[in-house]
Amino acid sequence: MTAAQEAVDLLIQAAGSWQFDDAFNGLRDREWMALRFLARANRFSRTPSALAQFVGTTRATASQTVKRLEDKGYLQRRNSDQDKRSVILDVTPRGEKLLLSDPITQLVDAIASLERGANNFRDSLRQILEQLDARRDRHHADFCRKCIFLSEAASSPASRRRPEYTCRFFRANVDASEIDLLCFNFERRESGAFPD
Ligand code: SF4
Repeated sequence: MTAAQEAVDLLIQAAGSWQFDDAFNGLRDREWMALRFLARANRFSRTPSALAQFVGTTRATASQTVKRLEDKGYLQRRNSDQDKRSVILDVTPRGEKLLLSDPITQLVDAIASLERGANNFRDSLRQILEQLDARRDRHHADFCRKCIFLSEAASSPASRRRPEYTCRFFRANVDASEIDLLCFNFERRESGAFPD
């Protein structure tokens, strides 16, 4: 048996960290996945269609999940400032509080304690995803910090409130607090000007 096959067998068993039959703290696994994604996505990807893409479901099923999370007070929707027809989904303080008991935290802790370091594991996973994307003609969400469209905004002595970054894809300001969030419009740059 190859190491690659063994790795897949082990990965399938690790999936129990995010896939389960019964509800945990009142949410099904897909609802946890949705809440988790919306807490980690930037404002351009906190949409029902990006959520459907992340969870791997239809837009209609994602909308039902959003409705259930809204009914429980974990999510709220608002219209986008740039396009009033677009909806942005925000995790509420109640949702943030629930995420403190996210069942996937055990997996995060296990990865953080890897002897060879979490960075190596993350980089290997990113390489795997990029290969899968190329074969399936799809695109995964990744972190704004490493995106080819991110550029540092020129500092302006006239205004201290000027944003530190801009997105050349959306032609919008990006706050420093947003560059470590997920985006589905991400395009990887070859050399990273921004450190880990
Ligand atoms: S710079 Fe890239 S990752 Fe960041 S918001 Fe723009 S498209 Fe998304």
